[in-house]
Amino acid sequence: MRAEIAVLPGDGIGPEVTAAAVAVLREIADRHGHVFTYSENRIGGIAIDECGEPLPKATIDACLASDAVLLGAVGGPRWSDPQARVRPEQGLLALRARLGVFANLRPLRVHPRLAGLSPLKAENLAGVDLLFVRELTGGAYFGRKTREGDVATDECRYSVGEVERVVRRACELALSRKGRLTSVDKANVLETSRLWRATTDRVVGEYEGITLEHQLVDSMAMLLLTRPSAYDVIVTENLFGDILTDEAAALAGSLGVSPSASLGAGRLGLYEPIHGSAPDIAGQGVANPIGAILSAALLLRHSLGLELEACAVEAAVDAVLATAELTRDLGGTAGTEQVTRCVIEQLRSKQ
Ligand code: ATP
Ligand code: MG
Repeated sequence: MRAEIAVLPGDGIGPEVTAAAVAVLREIADRHGHVFTYSENRIGGIAIDECGEPLPKATIDACLASDAVLLGAVGGPRWSDPQARVRPEQGLLALRARLGVFANLRPLRVHPRLAGLSPLKAENLAGVDLLFVRELTGGAYFGRKTREGDVATDECRYSVGEVERVVRRACELALSRKGRLTSVDKANVLETSRLWRATTDRVVGEYEGITLEHQLVDSMAMLLLTRPSAYDVIVTENLFGDILTDEAAALAGSLGVSPSASLGAGRLGLYEPIHGSAPDIAGQGVANPIGAILSAALLLRHSLGLELEACAVEAAVDAVLATAELTRDLGGTAGTEQVTRCVIEQLRSKQ
């Protein structure tokens, strides 16, 4: 197939890890007879430096004209003055809004070799295979905010339509996995949560083959630590999802290996590792490329519909995690390029 991929390297280690992900995508295209073309575009701090704004129009246009967007990371100390008129992170928020990506996916598996980095015991991590689906464009983060004297408010607002579309995505994803869906809310106290729960019950009722369970967010926070292997797909609203996905990332023990996808109504999606721009190690060639490479696997799966190819990348990464020298964050001595080469060699050895 033919596909146009917009690459947004961004700041810090972003360019290093997106280069790794693109190298893997090139290998997949070669092996499987696809033609992928890439356009490189500015976002974040580098865009502020070069274009005066964190999300130039040329970048938006390139993304909207593409089949998928692969992003590195944005931000860094150079642009972090809270008084600054424009900040790199605004570029990412604006891009999500322009692409209409309302469902943020974060898969979580813990490779046995990395179990020692997790705060959980290895026996509690066996069989953990989670997929978080976080609503990304509604709730308290986007509601009306007020400040009058010493009183502040953040309005949390959800419409039936906003809940429906993200729960539908979660149902489709659950059907492609174990068919278990856990919806997280706080329906014992919040009206938006009661709407969330009623809508979820109705939407899930339209699907055959899904087992739905509701959890309150406070119990879910605990269950993630005590029984993480009991869950499959977990869908929740924006603020709860933000907190729970960071808790889940901590379970994985390392920021460097986790990917994410942000999806909207169509096929166009935004793919990025969950880590930030890691200014402390930028430019040294030691960044772990695995989060970005697994994000490219999600891109193959969700925007291009190339499931086999996505699985090939994931299997190659699993093999590298099992046997190869890893980057410093995982206790190894390998650099970004060495790990990337190992992933590519694994892909070659399989065909
Ligand atoms: P942001 O505000 O951009 O999200 P952050 O402070 O939350 O940034 P990161 O930039 O991800 O977090 O960095 C946190 C720590 O994890 C840093 O010490 C960084 O070096 C390390 N780190 C993050 N990503 C990687 C990676 N891919 N490889 C190695 N180390 C990483
Ligand atoms: Mg962060």
